[in-house]
Amino acid sequence: MAKILDGKTAAAEVRSEVASEVAGLLERGVLVRLDVILVGEDPASVTYVASKERDSQEVGIESKVHRFAADVPQEELAALVGRSNEDTAVSGFFIQLPLPEGLDPMPLISSIDPAKDVDGLSPESVGRLVVGLPSLLPCTPHGVIQLLKRNGVDLSGREAVVVGRSNLVGKPLAQLLLRENATVTVCHSRTQDLPEVTRRADVLIVAAGKREMIGAEHVGEGAVVVDVGIHRKEEGGLVGDVRFDEVEPRAAWISPVPGGVGPMTRAMLLHNTVTAARIGPKS
Ligand code: NDP
Repeated sequence: MAKILDGKTAAAEVRSEVASEVAGLLERGVLVRLDVILVGEDPASVTYVASKERDSQEVGIESKVHRFAADVPQEELAALVGRSNEDTAVSGFFIQLPLPEGLDPMPLISSIDPAKDVDGLSPESVGRLVVGLPSLLPCTPHGVIQLLKRNGVDLSGREAVVVGRSNLVGKPLAQLLLRENATVTVCHSRTQDLPEVTRRADVLIVAAGKREMIGAEHVGEGAVVVDVGIHRKEEGGLVGDVRFDEVEPRAAWISPVPGGVGPMTRAMLLHNTVTAARIGPKS
């Protein structure tokens, strides 16, 4: 029977570390503030932003949400990004994605000061990660690494296979795994014979966004399996990219959905915000 990579417990640990760091900064007169840019009324985005606000409050981080209608001009958002970069009261900020059709997220994300880029998704932040310079790390990939480390899973020298190569998850995750000295393979929709590749993994991380696509045939005996996928079931509740019941008996460790990577992603945003506040702006 596999051991559970419990994201709720690991995330609670991270939140408690963040809370003491926030308290320490407050004692020195440094306020920690997270700003969010929310455009439109996509229900999932609205829910995510509400939970990020709640998380922030819990650890003593002030939060402010800038709300815009879906038809806001791109220039107005660009101007807010510029002001947030300059505003010393803002420790860090992010744009809740996806943006409504007609808006282009990349120029906006690219203009976020890397010292305030708490999502860690700007080309400069990702570039710094690739060349090994300090940067704020993308929340989901960093959450995956922390979930593994905090459960004592050693990555050094192990075969890690990532399914998915998105800018949000797969690509930065591959970089972080390299940084941990894993031997890394990245699979995607053109990978031939996926089960043959994934079965070689000591550590298999799935971020394909395809409901329950990974089954027992994809997993080697004793592998560590991390499921990044999140899908809402028609009957309510969440499910991942991995068929948990089928894979669990073969795995040494497995992350559940919900309660695995999701809580870690949220916790790493708080971690990045307090890190940004501690380090302060670049200039
Ligand atoms: P994307 O859709 O941007 O990327 C999916 C990737 O998976 C692509 O690289 C795609 O390949 C690859 N892929 C798709 N189908 C297959 C297949 N059959 N075999 C191999 N590779 C495949 O998704 P994201 O990276 O944004 O998200 C992935 C999942 O993670 C989603 O379910 C999302 O909801 C979830 N997620 C969860 C978070 C959390 O906090 N737990 C945070 C962020 C995302 P190609 O490039 O060739 O198209």
